[in-house]
Amino acid sequence: MVDPAQSDCSGKIYDLSGYTLLPGLIDCHVHLALDGRDFARSLNRWDDPAAVFKSVRNLLADTLAAGVVAVRDGGDRRMLAFRCREEKQSGTGLPRVVACGMALRKTGYGSFLGRGMAPGDIPAAVAGLASQGIDQVKVLASGIVSFKQYGHVGPLQFEQGELNLICAAARSHGLKVMAHASSDDAVRAAVLAGADSIEHGYFVSKETLYLMAERGTAWVPTFTPVASRLDGEMRLSHSPEEIAVIERTFRRHQEMVAFAHGLSVPVGVGTDSGAAGVRHGLSYTSELKLLLDAGLPCEQVIQLATGKSAIITGTAPVFGSMAPGRPICAVAIRGGHPEKHQPASETIFSV
Ligand SMILES: [Zn+2]
Repeated sequence: MVDPAQSDCSGKIYDLSGYTLLPGLIDCHVHLALDGRDFARSLNRWDDPAAVFKSVRNLLADTLAAGVVAVRDGGDRRMLAFRCREEKQSGTGLPRVVACGMALRKTGYGSFLGRGMAPGDIPAAVAGLASQGIDQVKVLASGIVSFKQYGHVGPLQFEQGELNLICAAARSHGLKVMAHASSDDAVRAAVLAGADSIEHGYFVSKETLYLMAERGTAWVPTFTPVASRLDGEMRLSHSPEEIAVIERTFRRHQEMVAFAHGLSVPVGVGTDSGAAGVRHGLSYTSELKLLLDAGLPCEQVIQLATGKSAIITGTAPVFGSMAPGRPICAVAIRGGHPEKHQPASETIFSV
């Protein structure tokens, strides 16, 4: 593994025979302030800045070991991941962090992601975040998917006019908007408001996917936080009735992602690492496999994980593509023939 913070323009030649060289992989949706193992312990750690920074460094090291060279952080109420991005820039050789600071929300779901706000606060809130130097605006347009009642999602957090205002305010500061949105109503409202990417998007309809294709709105479907509940210990924490709901939710999501890809909706790879049971780094391969299982061809999954995700995270063109004469950020995968399905686990180096 080569430190990606050190530019390697020394003329050193790497022998990569037997390897496939790819642009480094990109995760469009993580939460570095949460470790994905113990939510309560993560929150307790928030009061100790040194412990948070140490944890974030470890999580980023795990991320890089999986071949992931850039992540977009979906926020936390204390803006811890954002602050770590600032400190990390002093050349630690860890993945690039794109950070939204904290999420804009009103009430209901997401108190750990952002403070509640009144509608009148929107322009000032966006301006405040922009002045601190965030990379993108995150808005919570809906609640989360129920594992007890199929198709049920927490209510819309913002009305259409408020979402329009958030997107317009973000644009006025040159910032993209990533919208947490499940339920067709929430996704449609976020798309109509001009959000750049829809995060999760469970229960989106085909009609809304046509709209996303028309507008070029990206979708980061984050399979892993739902799919991981169908395996191992996580499965044991659910009743048979809940497992039936989760399975049905997951299958529908797979069908919709395949449909969206067929319409050329830009799909990004995002794990939601930090969510319950979703480990930083380790979960990336799971997310790729779930995209393959949804029926997307391997070469196209690689393109989503690199070029498309670089555009969504705003890290292109340094990340996500390679061209002669240009610095690259790449991973080499042993063997790596697409049919053998050996994504990030064989990563050997990154420059
Ligand atoms: Zn998230």
